[in-house]
Amino acid sequence: MNLCEKCNQPNTGLDFWCQSCYAKCFQQDFKNWASGNSDMFYELLKNNGRVDLQIKEIVVWDYLIQWGIEQSQKISVKSRSEWHNNNYEVLKETLRLFIPLIRFSAINMTDFIERVCPYKTIIPNNIYVETLKFI
Ligand SMILES: [Zn+2]
Repeated sequence: MNLCEKCNQPNTGLDFWCQSCYAKCFQQDFKNWASGNSDMFYELLKNNGRVDLQIKEIVVWDYLIQWGIEQSQKISVKSRSEWHNNNYEVLKETLRLFIPLIRFSAINMTDFIERVCPYKTIIPNNIYVETLKFI
């Protein structure tokens, strides 16, 4: 059995790190990614093993939005109620590769309405329509 490259414990499935190292990384290092390492964030979201990380999809979504806002330096307006269409366009472009990795069908209806719907315009239409079938 392979060993996890991070903790040297038997690796129970994921690529280079074990499940708990991925989970810890996701939760603890988020602030570091926000400073610019999008590759790591992308890999983590893409990883199928994420299903086992026991992080609720709505939490992933919240992380992603927060990260996107921090990446999009042009979004200087703090409160979303003051955003213009342009702010959403910038966020949409920033998160273009990431949005398809979100499993919207795993988000419950209440969370979806309160926390995803406000960002409807940054979600590609086909993904949004597909998602509505599940909630
Ligand atoms: Zn590990």
